[in-house]
Amino acid sequence: MQIVDGKPAGALSGETIDIACPSDGRVFASIPAAADADIDLAVAAARRAFERFAAVPAFERGRLLTRLSRLVEDNAEELAALESRDTGKPVRQGRADVAAAVRYYEFYGGAGDKIHGQTIPFLEGYTALTLREPHGVVAGIIPWNYPLQILARVAGAALAMGNTLVVKPAEDASLTTIRIAELALEAGFPAGVFNVVTGYGAKAGAALSGHHGVDYVTFTGSPATGTAIQQAAARNNRGVTMELGGKSPQIVFADADLDKALPVLVNAVIQNGGQTCSAGSRVLIERPVYERVAGALAERFQKLVAGPHEADLDLGALINAKQRDRVAAMVAEAESAGIKILARGTVSREAPSSGYYFAPVLFGDVPPDATIAQEEIFGPVLSLFPFDDEEDAIRLANSTDYGLVAGIWTLDGARQHRVAKRVRAGQVFVNAYGAGGGVELPFGGFKRSGHGREKGFEALYDMSATKTIVFNHG
Ligand code: ADP
Repeated sequence: MQIVDGKPAGALSGETIDIACPSDGRVFASIPAAADADIDLAVAAARRAFERFAAVPAFERGRLLTRLSRLVEDNAEELAALESRDTGKPVRQGRADVAAAVRYYEFYGGAGDKIHGQTIPFLEGYTALTLREPHGVVAGIIPWNYPLQILARVAGAALAMGNTLVVKPAEDASLTTIRIAELALEAGFPAGVFNVVTGYGAKAGAALSGHHGVDYVTFTGSPATGTAIQQAAARNNRGVTMELGGKSPQIVFADADLDKALPVLVNAVIQNGGQTCSAGSRVLIERPVYERVAGALAERFQKLVAGPHEADLDLGALINAKQRDRVAAMVAEAESAGIKILARGTVSREAPSSGYYFAPVLFGDVPPDATIAQEEIFGPVLSLFPFDDEEDAIRLANSTDYGLVAGIWTLDGARQHRVAKRVRAGQVFVNAYGAGGGVELPFGGFKRSGHGREKGFEALYDMSATKTIVFNHG
């Protein structure tokens, strides 16, 4: 069921979408397939709720979010199991996602009353000040890879600033979003503040992003869908935040602490089956250690096993057959172009053949202009590239149209600073990697990876607008 104006709602048409578990391809639930008229109802409910919600003191809105964080924690096992079943991710990843969601609601629960305006020195006889005001109705279009986490970063920041919400989760992974909206009602959010509509992107998502009653649109997903959503929002000249994925490099210099780096390099592309915007999908390795690092990574890749979510192996199934086939086609194309496969993982024997599994693949010596070097694969596929020196590493790191995250592995402190400044990425990790946790860290892209920032305090600015007030008191 959707949640509209505080109540469960089907689609007006009565149409539904079957939901299959990626681990075995079996249908286990259904969701309403919303169309324009359903979106009208949800946006109208959010509009009606807005003025009253914006007038709730910031600390009270924070308390509602804090209460929601506790309810998410109280229901952690149920939510983690549901997320894993809906997306195919191993159960420990489902649990990690719940823990991150708890942190988002907790962080924004404490943050909304700490965003202050300014007083500005102006002309004699005047006082000028600024307020941060909510946009109004925020539309949140959520992808299927980390529904709990991405919903939490959107809803936490939007609600903390006094906006009301209409959320459209992905048709492949809507179930935990619906459950969180129920918990938000239980936490005391008034009816109409947190609405959820479900359905296909091209229909429900498109209707929502171009709706005249929506004041701001935030989206995480693919660049192509991001373009469509921006075009729809532009018809009403609405603001947008876009987080559109990446082709993130990890740069391994010869002096790196390899024992520390290796497990992180593997995890950064295997986590969530590689279906992560911030996946570290390119590893650039300084030539003197290239063979050693490639060999060590190959050894680890060979041992990786994909299997059902309950088995809690290295990775689960991919989200659906279309995604699995897309990843397989990109790998096959690279193979037929002569790019060398250094290692492959396996699919567990317990994995039903009806599930959407794809064994991890490690490519070596990848030409920097190859499709797998330039395009986001969104699967468990890692590409290795040798480099000659610092200049070459920076050139390679910046050689794609994306700019979301980067990792730098070196013990040379001056080099850490030099490279971190010159890599075009919204987040740079030095001797570490990972954007999943760290709810306090601003996150977003350069170039094709998008614009606007989520997470941390910065998201509160995206989710509000400055109003300047000028008093002439003579
Ligand atoms: P995928 O193609 O793998 O489903 P997307 O980036 O297209 O990934 O999907 C992310 C989210 O965007 C989902 O909630 C999806 O329903 C939604 N979506 C897809 N197409 C559109 C569209 N044209 N307008 C608005 N939302 C869309």
